[in-house]
Amino acid sequence: MQQLWPRIQALIQLQVNERTWNQFFRHLALYEHNAEEIVFQVPDAFFVTWFENHYLDYLSEVIRKATGLKRTIRLIARPANEAADAMLANVQMPPVPQPGAMPSSATQTSLAFNPGAAPSAATPAAPSHVPAAIPSMPSPPQPMVTMARQSHNDRVVQAGLNPRYTFDSFVVGSSNQFCNAACQAAAERPATVYNPLFLFGGVGLGKTHLLHAVGNELLRRNPSLRLTYVTSEQFMNELIHSLRTKDTNAFRTKYREQCDVLLMDDIQFIAGKDSTQEEFFHTFNALHQAHSQIVITSDKLPQELPGLEERLRSRFGWGLIADIQPPDIETRLAIIAKKAESENIVLDKDVGMFLATHIRSNVRELEGCLVRLKAFASLYQRPITLELAREQLKSVIREQNTHITVERILKSVADFYNVKVKDLTGPRRHRAVAHPRHVAMYLSRRHTSFSFPEIGRHFGGRDHSTVMNAVKKVEKLLGGTDGFKGELRSIEQALLG
Ligand code: ADP
Ligand code: MG
Repeated sequence: MQQLWPRIQALIQLQVNERTWNQFFRHLALYEHNAEEIVFQVPDAFFVTWFENHYLDYLSEVIRKATGLKRTIRLIARPANEAADAMLANVQMPPVPQPGAMPSSATQTSLAFNPGAAPSAATPAAPSHVPAAIPSMPSPPQPMVTMARQSHNDRVVQAGLNPRYTFDSFVVGSSNQFCNAACQAAAERPATVYNPLFLFGGVGLGKTHLLHAVGNELLRRNPSLRLTYVTSEQFMNELIHSLRTKDTNAFRTKYREQCDVLLMDDIQFIAGKDSTQEEFFHTFNALHQAHSQIVITSDKLPQELPGLEERLRSRFGWGLIADIQPPDIETRLAIIAKKAESENIVLDKDVGMFLATHIRSNVRELEGCLVRLKAFASLYQRPITLELAREQLKSVIREQNTHITVERILKSVADFYNVKVKDLTGPRRHRAVAHPRHVAMYLSRRHTSFSFPEIGRHFGGRDHSTVMNAVKKVEKLLGGTDGFKGELRSIEQALLG
């Protein structure tokens, strides 16, 4: 049975629809079996009752057919404290689907379970005694939380949204504060404050994240809202498809009439594509007139988009244009900390600092580096140390830091402490120059690829142990007062420009 169970599961997965699989059958854990019975453990008592009433016959039958054995099937509930965790762990976070890829039946209320009713053409029909449709769920206290959560997730995915991109998971700093606030306002009072809301900024700075956050928040507040997230490229492809299949009416109804909120990502793509712009122009007008909220993202300002029609450009300026700048070092540190937490990565402060100081212009890259470190560390069973980070991210970092030299570090440090570069490399040991010198040595170690002896040479031929001690001293100071951290950050900011 142990060996057969995975195959039986695969069979069931083919026979029941995806929702039923996810909500019920995937939770069955083979617990024990003997000559009389097969016992499955399931999340809780409610699940036992529900399952027994609706699927037990079907399950017995599938097992009997697959194994040739006639056994009694029994379900037992997992102990209470484990149950909630198990159910929550199984709430799926599916990837963002492409519009058009969604089964249309998914629009139906999420509680309309329908185990055997929708086999695809290739799948075998479900056994006849699988209940065709179960109209509604009873209302037991605890599992309903999961059901409600799942149905919210369904709606989110249905709208084309990524459930992980929320305001909660977005780190706000001075670079994105304005954009974030504008998005929150649009999510709280759609189509009343800023319409359209136009977000623009460089690649990987969080535009798409914020756009999804608006959608997620709107759906959380009002589950019945008809909300569509689409990239302008998908919009164009759908338009082309509708022209080809002579079904432009359906396309227009979807975007102009059945849409309370339109979230359009990467509008820059339609610049120069005349018929798509034409269609979007009319869509925009219809939605705006109907007081539907429109949020648009772009990598450039409307006036900087080559090939964008004037009439669209002027409409984009009707509401609010908000920009996102590259994050400053504090925000980068906070993003790293948040991401590490959500990925269960244990990250030393110095590694976080290393990433935040070296990867400056793009949050996506920052995340990418973190994920790469995690993968490497787990593959080779090594902790994520500063050395590992240095080693693994060499190529990414070299690209970004070719312009940082010991000379520049000396200059920035000298400027900050109001001393002369000569003093830093010279023999004086007075505290007024010793402290800045330590800082300069520390920064040289952090931002260049020089070894301790090489750095020593840049500082008037000092010994490598002097440099090592200086680095240690600065690290100790960093662990202490916030004042010094701020001091160091200011120097780094000046250095990194
Ligand atoms: P864009 O659309 O501007 O190119 P994205 O929204 O795709 O950028 O962001 C790239 C990645 O960086 C995403 O995984 C996003 O979650 C993350 N990200 C960007 N800014 C932030 C932020 N302020 N806080 C948390 N994550 C962020
Ligand atoms: Mg994007």
